[in-house]
Amino acid sequence: MNKKTLIRKVFDAGVVGAGGAGFPTHVKLGATGADTYLINGAECEPLLDADCHLMTTMAKELVDAGRITAEALGARLLFCVKAKHAEAVDALRSAGADVFEARDYYPLGDEVILIADALGRTVPEGHLPTEVGVVVNNVETLLNIHGALAGTPVTHTFVSTGGAVGRPTLFRAPIGTNARELLEVSGGIGIDPADAVFVDGGPMMGRYSDTPDFPVTKTTKGILVLPRDSLLATLEQMPVEEMLKRARVCCCQCNQCTVACSRYLVGMGIEPHKIMRAMAWAGTRNGEVLRMALLCSECNLCSALHACPMGLSPRRVNQQIKKALRESGVTPAFVKKEASPHPLREYRLAPSGRIKERLGLSVYDRESVFEPDLLHPSEVRIPLKQHVGAPSVPVVEEGQTVASGACIALPPEGVLGAKIHASIDGNVVSVTSGMVVLRRRE
Ligand code: SF4
Ligand code: SF4
Repeated sequence: MNKKTLIRKVFDAGVVGAGGAGFPTHVKLGATGADTYLINGAECEPLLDADCHLMTTMAKELVDAGRITAEALGARLLFCVKAKHAEAVDALRSAGADVFEARDYYPLGDEVILIADALGRTVPEGHLPTEVGVVVNNVETLLNIHGALAGTPVTHTFVSTGGAVGRPTLFRAPIGTNARELLEVSGGIGIDPADAVFVDGGPMMGRYSDTPDFPVTKTTKGILVLPRDSLLATLEQMPVEEMLKRARVCCCQCNQCTVACSRYLVGMGIEPHKIMRAMAWAGTRNGEVLRMALLCSECNLCSALHACPMGLSPRRVNQQIKKALRESGVTPAFVKKEASPHPLREYRLAPSGRIKERLGLSVYDRESVFEPDLLHPSEVRIPLKQHVGAPSVPVVEEGQTVASGACIALPPEGVLGAKIHASIDGNVVSVTSGMVVLRRRE
């Protein structure tokens, strides 16, 4: 298949990065000069296991789609899977794939880290993996490409429930399903809901919420329930202003956040202790230091969850700086320069098991059971922005009947975005600039 046809099919199916980033895949596949098509099966967040299940049970579909895509890119296909997931490695190899068996540390799923580990290449700071000849897609994204090649749009997502739930479960959920519904079908919330927080994603990088009433999107990989008084929830829910007040009092500039920073260790010019100093003490602030925040992957290793001995989270501060720079339209340029990993990187990696212990998550360490038929939501709320770029524009009206797979929203002409499709057969009950709500037809 030629590249133009592939890109058209992927665009028509509304495929975006399913690993959490949501970057429109048809744009990624437009890259030129790639020699390697890397499939990210690292799945490094604790308690998430959807990708491992897909690699084990749908290896043939993944390898078929991978080969077609790699050929269109003119690149070789390479799957990256943690060696500990032997079943997934065996299934992919049996389907004819070339597999790189990776070590088990966090955050291996960050594509910059994965490229360093699997290929020994360092992505220049502020640049894309294509600068070093690599296109990276997540496992579920590749499965969605497989669907796109057959003309099937993205209507469902594989999502696992975990943490304090009755029975961790893996679903193939219609996009727009309320997270509360997934938890109910997973045996319910295992603690008093008033004492719980709900995570859209993994515990280290997910979005924390007081309520489970949010819709599953194309990028949702997990729905977790955690105790409100856990260190994780406390750090994630503390207002950044409060964090900075504390930083003024107790950030001792010990440098431990920088010593542990995954992006610093891979050779990028980010030093979170300097960012913390600059934000806590305005007199030390300058554009050069704040610009470093743009190199942050938000992996959370710098925070009290792993590195900071004073209960702080440089990650939360970086998030705020990135948001402010984005909103003010500032896009600092990064000059491309040679970089190499820190000489001590090998000794400073964070083993996944240690992270899980430190976060108190080992008690929830149960494999989810795949239940393909348990979920039949009567209503779905489909957000019009589930991707990087502009929100999509609805092309349906209230009262209209739609079939699952019908296009309900298009990206604005000439702007980065993705198509969105109905995930159930239903009637359109409301359309706003942010959401289309469908009710199932009986
Ligand atoms: S680890 Fe914590 S206390 Fe040390 S420099 Fe970083 S933010 Fe400050
Ligand atoms: S979250 Fe912290 S450790 Fe991770 S990349 Fe950002 S600054 Fe570095």
